[in-house]
Amino acid sequence: MNDFLLIGDPPIEVYLRNNSLAKRYSLRISNKDNKVSLTLPRWSNLKEAKEFAQSQEEWMRKHLSQQLEPIQINFGKYTLLDGKKILIRHGSGKAVRVFNDELFVPGRDEELCGKLRAFYKTLARERLMKSSDYFAKILGCKIKSITLRDTTTRWGSCTSNGRLMYSWRLMMAPPEVQDYVAAHEVCHLIEMNHSPDYWKLVESVVPTYKSDRSWLKINGNLLHQYML
Ligand SMILES: [Zn+2]
Repeated sequence: MNDFLLIGDPPIEVYLRNNSLAKRYSLRISNKDNKVSLTLPRWSNLKEAKEFAQSQEEWMRKHLSQQLEPIQINFGKYTLLDGKKILIRHGSGKAVRVFNDELFVPGRDEELCGKLRAFYKTLARERLMKSSDYFAKILGCKIKSITLRDTTTRWGSCTSNGRLMYSWRLMMAPPEVQDYVAAHEVCHLIEMNHSPDYWKLVESVVPTYKSDRSWLKINGNLLHQYML
Protein backbone atom coordinates (compact mmCIF):
# COMPACT_ATOMS: atom_id res chain seq x y z
CA MET A 1 0.00 0.00 0.00
CA ASN A 2 1.14 3.59 -0.68
CA ASP A 3 2.76 5.60 2.08
CA PHE A 4 0.44 8.52 1.56
CA LEU A 5 -2.57 9.73 -0.37
CA LEU A 6 -2.95 13.10 -2.05
CA ILE A 7 -6.33 14.66 -1.37
CA GLY A 8 -7.78 17.68 -3.18
CA ASP A 9 -6.15 20.63 -4.88
CA PRO A 10 -3.72 21.94 -3.70
CA PRO A 11 -3.11 18.42 -2.46
CA ILE A 12 -3.00 17.52 1.21
CA GLU A 13 -0.59 14.69 1.99
CA VAL A 14 -2.38 12.10 4.08
CA TYR A 15 -0.01 9.52 5.57
CA LEU A 16 -1.29 5.99 6.00
CA ARG A 17 -0.79 4.05 9.19
CA ASN A 18 -1.84 0.45 9.56
CA ASN A 19 -3.24 -0.44 12.92
CA SER A 20 -4.63 -3.91 13.31
CA LEU A 21 -6.39 -2.87 16.53
CA ALA A 22 -8.26 0.02 14.87
CA LYS A 23 -11.99 -0.51 14.44
CA ARG A 24 -12.55 2.22 11.87
CA TYR A 25 -10.80 4.75 9.64
CA SER A 26 -9.69 7.81 11.58
CA LEU A 27 -7.82 10.98 10.70
CA ARG A 28 -5.43 12.85 12.91
CA ILE A 29 -3.48 16.07 12.46
CA SER A 30 -0.34 16.42 14.55
CA ASN A 31 -0.08 19.58 16.63
CA LYS A 32 3.64 19.41 16.27
CA ASP A 33 4.22 19.38 12.52
CA ASN A 34 0.74 19.49 10.92
CA LYS A 35 1.26 15.99 9.54
CA VAL A 36 -2.04 14.40 8.57
CA SER A 37 -2.33 10.68 9.17
CA LEU A 38 -5.05 8.22 8.42
CA THR A 39 -5.31 5.13 10.58
CA LEU A 40 -6.29 2.03 8.67
CA PRO A 41 -8.07 -0.89 10.29
CA ARG A 42 -7.00 -4.39 9.27
CA TRP A 43 -9.91 -4.82 6.87
CA SER A 44 -9.22 -1.54 5.05
CA ASN A 45 -8.67 -1.08 1.35
CA LEU A 46 -7.12 1.79 -0.56
CA LYS A 47 -10.30 2.80 -2.38
CA GLU A 48 -12.29 3.11 0.85
CA ALA A 49 -9.42 4.85 2.60
CA LYS A 50 -9.28 7.44 -0.15
CA GLU A 51 -13.05 7.96 -0.11
CA PHE A 52 -12.95 8.46 3.63
CA ALA A 53 -10.09 10.98 3.40
CA GLN A 54 -11.91 12.82 0.59
CA SER A 55 -15.07 13.04 2.67
CA GLN A 56 -13.00 14.77 5.38
CA GLU A 57 -11.27 17.25 3.08
CA GLU A 58 -13.18 20.26 4.37
CA TRP A 59 -12.43 19.32 7.98
CA MET A 60 -8.72 18.86 7.17
CA ARG A 61 -8.46 22.23 5.38
CA LYS A 62 -10.22 24.00 8.21
CA HIS A 63 -8.03 22.34 10.81
CA LEU A 64 -4.81 22.99 8.89
CA SER A 65 -5.66 26.65 8.39
CA GLN A 66 -6.15 27.03 12.12
CA GLN A 67 -2.75 25.58 12.98
CA LEU A 68 -0.60 28.01 14.87
CA GLU A 69 2.77 29.32 13.74
CA PRO A 70 5.64 27.63 15.55
CA ILE A 71 7.39 29.89 18.05
CA GLN A 72 11.21 29.78 18.09
CA ILE A 73 12.89 29.73 21.46
CA ASN A 74 15.67 32.27 21.95
CA PHE A 75 17.16 34.53 24.58
CA GLY A 76 15.09 37.71 24.67
CA LYS A 77 11.97 35.80 23.57
CA TYR A 78 9.11 34.38 25.60
CA THR A 79 8.09 30.92 26.64
CA LEU A 80 5.19 29.81 28.84
CA LEU A 81 5.33 28.85 32.48
CA ASP A 82 2.29 28.19 34.66
CA GLY A 83 -0.02 29.65 32.04
CA LYS A 84 1.89 32.92 31.68
CA LYS A 85 4.39 34.28 29.22
CA ILE A 86 7.85 34.53 30.70
CA LEU A 87 10.91 36.28 29.23
CA ILE A 88 13.99 34.11 28.67
CA ARG A 89 17.21 35.80 29.82
CA HIS A 90 20.88 34.85 30.10
CA GLY A 91 21.54 33.47 33.54
CA SER A 92 24.65 32.65 35.53
CA GLY A 93 25.60 29.61 37.55
CA LYS A 94 24.35 26.17 36.62
CA ALA A 95 20.63 26.04 37.27
CA VAL A 96 17.73 27.61 35.42
CA ARG A 97 16.05 30.09 37.77
CA VAL A 98 12.78 31.99 37.83
CA PHE A 99 13.12 35.46 39.26
CA ASN A 100 10.73 38.43 39.04
CA ASP A 101 8.67 36.73 36.33
CA GLU A 102 11.74 36.17 34.18
CA LEU A 103 13.47 32.91 33.36
CA PHE A 104 17.27 32.93 33.70
CA VAL A 105 19.00 30.21 31.70
CA PRO A 106 22.78 29.76 31.92
CA GLY A 107 24.88 28.59 28.99
CA ARG A 108 25.28 29.22 25.31
CA ASP A 109 22.57 29.86 22.71
CA GLU A 110 22.77 26.36 21.27
CA GLU A 111 22.22 24.84 24.71
CA LEU A 112 19.08 26.85 25.41
CA CYS A 113 16.42 24.46 24.14
CA GLY A 114 17.99 21.44 25.82
CA LYS A 115 18.29 23.29 29.11
CA LEU A 116 14.71 24.50 28.94
CA ARG A 117 13.42 21.01 28.19
CA ALA A 118 15.38 19.67 31.17
CA PHE A 119 14.00 22.48 33.33
CA TYR A 120 10.38 21.71 32.37
CA LYS A 121 10.94 18.00 32.86
CA THR A 122 12.46 18.39 36.33
CA LEU A 123 9.68 20.74 37.38
CA ALA A 124 7.04 18.42 35.95
CA ARG A 125 8.49 15.44 37.80
CA GLU A 126 8.52 17.37 41.06
CA ARG A 127 5.04 18.79 40.77
CA LEU A 128 3.16 15.97 39.09
CA MET A 129 4.67 13.44 41.44
CA LYS A 130 3.50 15.53 44.37
CA SER A 131 -0.02 16.01 43.08
CA SER A 132 -0.35 12.40 41.85
CA ASP A 133 0.71 11.21 45.31
CA TYR A 134 -1.76 13.60 46.89
CA PHE A 135 -4.70 12.28 44.85
CA ALA A 136 -3.57 8.67 45.21
CA LYS A 137 -3.56 9.08 48.98
CA ILE A 138 -7.10 10.50 49.01
CA LEU A 139 -8.39 7.80 46.68
CA GLY A 140 -6.43 4.99 48.27
CA CYS A 141 -4.55 3.78 45.21
CA LYS A 142 -0.92 3.11 44.46
CA ILE A 143 1.37 4.73 41.91
CA LYS A 144 4.19 2.61 40.60
CA SER A 145 6.05 5.03 38.39
CA ILE A 146 5.84 8.38 36.67
CA THR A 147 7.30 9.02 33.22
CA LEU A 148 7.53 12.36 31.43
CA ARG A 149 7.36 12.66 27.68
CA ASP A 150 6.69 15.19 24.97
CA THR A 151 3.45 13.75 23.68
CA THR A 152 1.29 15.33 21.01
CA THR A 153 -2.06 13.65 21.43
CA ARG A 154 -2.53 13.28 25.16
CA TRP A 155 -1.51 15.12 28.29
CA GLY A 156 -1.31 12.04 30.40
CA SER A 157 -2.00 8.34 30.44
CA CYS A 158 -1.86 5.47 32.85
CA THR A 159 -1.82 1.72 33.03
CA SER A 160 -3.98 -0.35 35.38
CA ASN A 161 -0.91 -1.32 37.41
CA GLY A 162 -0.17 2.27 38.32
CA ARG A 163 2.30 3.53 35.75
CA LEU A 164 1.56 7.16 34.95
CA MET A 165 2.81 9.20 32.00
CA TYR A 166 2.56 12.97 31.66
CA SER A 167 3.60 15.55 29.11
CA TRP A 168 6.17 17.95 30.59
CA ARG A 169 4.53 20.70 28.50
CA LEU A 170 1.84 20.77 31.17
CA MET A 171 4.24 23.04 33.08
CA MET A 172 3.29 25.69 30.51
CA ALA A 173 -0.36 25.44 31.62
CA PRO A 174 -1.82 27.06 34.76
CA PRO A 175 -1.06 25.12 37.99
CA GLU A 176 -4.71 24.16 38.50
CA VAL A 177 -4.72 22.53 35.05
CA GLN A 178 -1.56 20.58 35.97
CA ASP A 179 -3.34 19.34 39.10
CA TYR A 180 -6.43 18.41 37.15
CA VAL A 181 -4.44 16.22 34.74
CA ALA A 182 -2.80 14.45 37.68
CA ALA A 183 -6.25 13.84 39.22
CA HIS A 184 -7.58 12.68 35.84
CA GLU A 185 -4.90 9.99 35.54
CA VAL A 186 -5.01 8.88 39.17
CA CYS A 187 -8.82 8.52 38.96
CA HIS A 188 -8.28 6.12 36.06
CA LEU A 189 -6.53 3.78 38.49
CA ILE A 190 -9.99 3.29 39.99
CA GLU A 191 -12.16 3.71 36.89
CA MET A 192 -10.41 2.78 33.65
CA ASN A 193 -12.95 4.63 31.49
CA HIS A 194 -14.67 7.98 31.01
CA SER A 195 -18.06 6.92 32.39
CA PRO A 196 -20.32 9.23 34.45
CA ASP A 197 -19.00 7.43 37.57
CA TYR A 198 -15.48 8.27 36.52
CA TRP A 199 -16.27 11.99 36.12
CA LYS A 200 -18.03 11.99 39.49
CA LEU A 201 -14.83 10.66 41.01
CA VAL A 202 -12.79 13.40 39.28
CA GLU A 203 -15.25 16.03 40.51
CA SER A 204 -14.96 14.74 44.07
CA VAL A 205 -11.24 15.53 44.12
CA VAL A 206 -11.17 18.52 41.72
CA PRO A 207 -14.53 20.31 41.91
CA THR A 208 -13.40 22.82 39.21
CA TYR A 209 -12.38 20.11 36.75
CA LYS A 210 -14.75 21.31 34.00
CA SER A 211 -13.01 24.63 33.56
CA ASP A 212 -9.57 23.02 33.73
CA ARG A 213 -10.59 20.51 31.14
CA SER A 214 -11.91 23.14 28.78
CA TRP A 215 -8.78 25.25 29.30
CA LEU A 216 -6.79 22.35 27.85
CA LYS A 217 -9.23 21.84 25.01
CA ILE A 218 -9.08 25.51 24.02
CA ASN A 219 -5.44 26.27 24.77
CA GLY A 220 -3.70 22.92 24.49
CA ASN A 221 -2.44 23.76 21.01
CA LEU A 222 -0.61 26.80 22.34
CA LEU A 223 1.66 24.59 24.42
CA HIS A 224 2.84 22.77 21.32
CA GLN A 225 3.57 26.03 19.51
CA TYR A 226 6.88 26.46 21.30
CA MET A 227 9.75 24.82 19.40
CA LEU A 228 11.33 22.86 22.19
ZN1 LIG B 1 -8.87 9.86 30.62
